[in-house]
Parts: sequence; structure tokens; C-alpha cells
Amino acid sequence: MSTGKVWLVGAGPGDAGLFTIKGMETLQQAEVVVYDSLVGQEILSRIPESARCINVGKRASHHTMPQEQINQVLVEEAKKGHRVVRLKGGDPFVFGRGGEEVELLVKEQIPFEVVPGVTSCTGVPAYAGIPVTHRDCASSFHVITGHAQRDGEIRIDFPSLARLGGTLVFLMGLARLGWIAKGLLDAGMKKDTPAAVVENGTTAKQRKVISVLSDIEEKAKEEDIQKPAIIIVG
Ligand code: SAH
Repeated sequence: MSTGKVWLVGAGPGDAGLFTIKGMETLQQAEVVVYDSLVGQEILSRIPESARCINVGKRASHHTMPQEQINQVLVEEAKKGHRVVRLKGGDPFVFGRGGEEVELLVKEQIPFEVVPGVTSCTGVPAYAGIPVTHRDCASSFHVITGHAQRDGEIRIDFPSLARLGGTLVFLMGLARLGWIAKGLLDAGMKKDTPAAVVENGTTAKQRKVISVLSDIEEKAKEEDIQKPAIIIVG
């Protein structure tokens, strides 16, 4: 039997209307779909009935399937000759560990394609009415993970970020919102720098809190903002 193929497909931030045409076409040809928890229900409902679905649903605190095992599933299913779609929230190469999956596919000589998606870094602020750049006040934007690295350490170079003057977008940072805000303030950012937190952006459940850096943590707590959420500063 000949080797199958793996498509790493970005599902966008939630709203099914933000799923690309190419992504949808690829999904409809799938024999096996491996997806995680950030993929919207409406997109999941478009998976062909004949396809086998594997939910590897990861959320920061309780991984249902370790990354090594996900990689293994992709390789095994492709080696069986299947057309495998690895469906990921947002864009597969933005904090989605898509790079790690591709490394293994290259090593195992499995054909693959990447179908980019609308990333939450820009899609979620847009639905919340926040342009990440603006000619008058933000000539760059920077995307930072608030999640710990492989060694469990979390390193954010706050002084550099504070100096850049661009819009800062933090993913996976809600649990450390207070720590992030303090880091930026200690690094010299003004207390009244605009800050926002958007939960479940682009979906019907979207909620947002807009405030200033010095009290964004308190405001987000008051509103009981939950994951998935992004933090926008500047
Ligand atoms: N590959 C994804 C990001 C994966 S990391 C992308 O390109 O968007 C997961 C983080 O993305 C979450 O912790 C959250 O910070 C952010 N995120 C993804 N979808 C989101 C949504 N609909 N609303 C708010 N934040 C979201």
C-alpha cells in the first residue's frame, strides 16, 4: 500500500466563516481527522461522516493526548495509506506545535501540506473592534506566548517589549495576566496603556473586557473571563 498524506490545516479562531475554502475542501476529502479542542463545533460538523475522528483535545492544564502520541498517530495513519487532516485552531504554525509535527513527517518521509488559517492573534482582536496596527499609534504588533517552555520556565523579555511601542498580543496568558501586567508596568509601560482581554473571540460566546494595564487583571477577574482568551496591550 502506498503512503498516505497529512494536511496540517488551520481552522481559524472559531467562527466557521473564517475557515478557508482550501481548508474546507481538504477536510471534505479526509479519511482521518485529528483535531484539538480549539476547533469550532460548526467546523467539526463539516467532517465527512465516512471519516474517522480522533480528538486529541489539548487545553493548557489537561492534555488529553501528549504531543509525542499525536505525532505518532499522524505517522501511523499516513503509513496505512490514509488521507489525514490534522485540524488545529487558528493557524497551524502559530503556537500550534505544527512545526514539531512537520519535523517528524519530514523525518518519516511522509508527504504533507500546510493550509494556513486565520490566526487568533489578528482575528480575535478584529472581531473585538481592535486593529492591531494603526498609522497614528502602533506601527508594529508582537505576538507572545504566556505558556511555559519545555523546561517549565516562562521567560518574557518585558523591557524589550515595553521599548518596542507596538501592540502586544499575548496568547495562552490568561492564567498569568497579573504577572504579565506587572512585568510590563515594572518595565516602564504607562499605567493607562489600553489593555483588553477577549474570551472565545469570533464565536457567539465572545466576551471582552477593555480597560487599562494597571487594572486589567482586576477587571478580567470581575467578569470571570475564562480560557481561551487573548490579551491585547497598547
Ligand atoms: N494556533 C492558534 C493558537 C494556539 S495557542 C492560533 O493561530 O490562533 C492557543 C491560544 O490561542 C489560546 O490559549 C488563546 O490565547 C488563543 N486563542 C485561540 N482561539 C481563541 C479564541 N477564539 N478566542 C480567544 N483566544 C483564542
